[in-house]
Amino acid sequence: QTLITCALKNNKGLIPNAEKRRFHTLGLHRPIAHLNTVVRNDFILVDNICGDLDFEEGGNPVVMNRILAFRDPVLCDAFVCESMGHKPEEVDYIMLAQQLGVGSADTAKAHMVYLNEDLSTKKKPPMTGRVKKLASYTDSQDACSACFGSLIYALDRLQERGELKKGLPPVAIGQGFRGKTGDIGVGHCTACFSKSLEGCPPKAADMVEFLEKEWVCKHM
Ligand code: SF4
Repeated sequence: QTLITCALKNNKGLIPNAEKRRFHTLGLHRPIAHLNTVVRNDFILVDNICGDLDFEEGGNPVVMNRILAFRDPVLCDAFVCESMGHKPEEVDYIMLAQQLGVGSADTAKAHMVYLNEDLSTKKKPPMTGRVKKLASYTDSQDACSACFGSLIYALDRLQERGELKKGLPPVAIGQGFRGKTGDIGVGHCTACFSKSLEGCPPKAADMVEFLEKEWVCKHM
């Protein structure tokens, strides 16, 4: 109903069930934003070790191998949106919460600190379901989990828009492409490719934009 559930919407856990039902009759977005003006979280931990393309009980796990910590719930939700290939503007309650002064949705201005980043190239668990299908559009060589997971989310957004089709050349990703040339890739490791999206790892939302322009449109 709201595209994503993270810090702002999770605050519904603090209200009684009758109020939760009332939130739904009020259209969810406005009450969620206002709730966060009275019960604001100042430290949020997001388990992003292994999410899912759809929802927490779903059958399409995406390994990201990271835990995110935020001091701003609006920034948290905006970042999570972009990590899943969405724009924060697509989620009304995020923008409303920003307007109400709960926090900032501007991830470009965020101060990020990376600790113990998983840049290992160890073998990943086998992919299943939709993730496996989306991965067939990639050429992955020693990709870090967060980088590859972001690409899977980006491909899922393109799939939703009906933009994935047979015949598209694979999108290169991973440390195995460092210093190598090629057609199209995402992440700093593919910097020598003709078309490459900078970032280590790049955000899924940026991948969506880049792949639409440089990959899908060029092979129509
Ligand atoms: S660009 Fe960075 S995150 Fe992506 S595979 Fe290379 S080292 Fe890993």
